[in-house]
Amino acid sequence: MSYKLNTIALHTGAVIDETGSRSVPLHRTTAYMFKNTEHAANLFALKELGNIYTRLQNPTQDVLEQRVAALEGGAAALALASGTSAIFYTVINICGKGDEVVAAVNLYGGTFTMFKNILPELGITVKFVDPLDPVEFENAISDKTRLLYTEIIGNPTLDVADIDAISEIAKRNSIPLAVDSTFTTPYMIRPLEHGADIVIHSLSKWMGGHGTGIGGIVVDSGKFDWSNEKFRLYNEPDGSYHNIRFARDLGDLNPLAFILRMRLVPLRNLGACISPDNAWMFLQGIETLGLRMERHCENAMKVADHLESHPKVSWVRYPGLKNDPGKTVSDRLFKKGYGGMVVFGVKGGKEAGATFINNLKLISHLANVGDAKTLAIHPASTTHSQLTEKDQAAGGITPDLVRLSIGIEDIDDILSDIDQALQA
Ligand SMILES: *Cc1c(COP(=O)(O)O)cnc(C)c1O
Repeated sequence: MSYKLNTIALHTGAVIDETGSRSVPLHRTTAYMFKNTEHAANLFALKELGNIYTRLQNPTQDVLEQRVAALEGGAAALALASGTSAIFYTVINICGKGDEVVAAVNLYGGTFTMFKNILPELGITVKFVDPLDPVEFENAISDKTRLLYTEIIGNPTLDVADIDAISEIAKRNSIPLAVDSTFTTPYMIRPLEHGADIVIHSLSKWMGGHGTGIGGIVVDSGKFDWSNEKFRLYNEPDGSYHNIRFARDLGDLNPLAFILRMRLVPLRNLGACISPDNAWMFLQGIETLGLRMERHCENAMKVADHLESHPKVSWVRYPGLKNDPGKTVSDRLFKKGYGGMVVFGVKGGKEAGATFINNLKLISHLANVGDAKTLAIHPASTTHSQLTEKDQAAGGITPDLVRLSIGIEDIDDILSDIDQALQA
């Protein structure tokens, strides 16, 4: 049975057990009883899939994984301790020493640092390109490239990457495309339907939706052909797991090669597992994903329209604004809305931006996005204050830039708070 988004968000993966519990049970356990030694041996040899130890899997986490895989139209998913670990495990589940990644330059700060400073220490080189010019991805590909990586809506100017064009390049070169869809969620776009091979979410943002915890998830389409010899990690016997060749020895489980390897190699041995409590909490959030995203998008559109005609505002970026540079691509990619993020410039520059933030009453001043509550930050005086104005400008952070993550409050109250703070 193939259900639509809101139905999947409420039902997929849930099994009513002998207790009859309607909500998904929270399994707070470290380990699971084997039925007998044969059962135990089968689990360890992958002849049978099942629970062994919660670092590897947990029944609550399993429901979350099935649900998000279904929301994205993927074959399988793996939930992890954070969006950050989901990104790291994706890279090291494909690339090893000597391999290259081609990535968008406007990545989330933590991801950018991982790619720029940490991956090179492991012998993985990242070439950064402008996501608005897909040809740059193609030009940066070499015979060592094993992964293309981008976000769909990027920070801080909310530029929209044309993943239709980027995935064509990935296919032409037999390289997987991984996209971080945290800002879009499956409500706005299902990247696998646009040719992406892997979708990553920070569950900490709109998916969980309430600013209550940290988690991440990786969804695999199950369609990428890992048996191409250039993917060494899939074609050579894996010394860390029974000398399995993940692209060759899995039989019926072959379409799950990517997620199985991530579970059995990085997760099993590096250990960034999601806690069952957080998996349970994210399931509660995801139940209302469609309702919340509808309101996030509707409110953000109204805020962008309002700011655009406000005398104290010098510029606004929102992918849904008629004259936004991202509007054409957004209209092709997003069917139901343009997301919850709005950025704008306050007339009067850095001082004015800081004054605006200091005068907000309802809207929370903090470094997060995707909460049900409206959030604001002034990057020039906070997250990016250690950079020179020149370096800030290179990253698109102008001194007047204010970033809003629009929540699901009543729109009149959001607009009133913005107006009184702009007045101050
Ligand atoms: C927050 C975020 C991350 C990192 O996720 P954590 O759950 O905080 O580790 C990665 N990418 C994007 C786009 C994010 O917004």
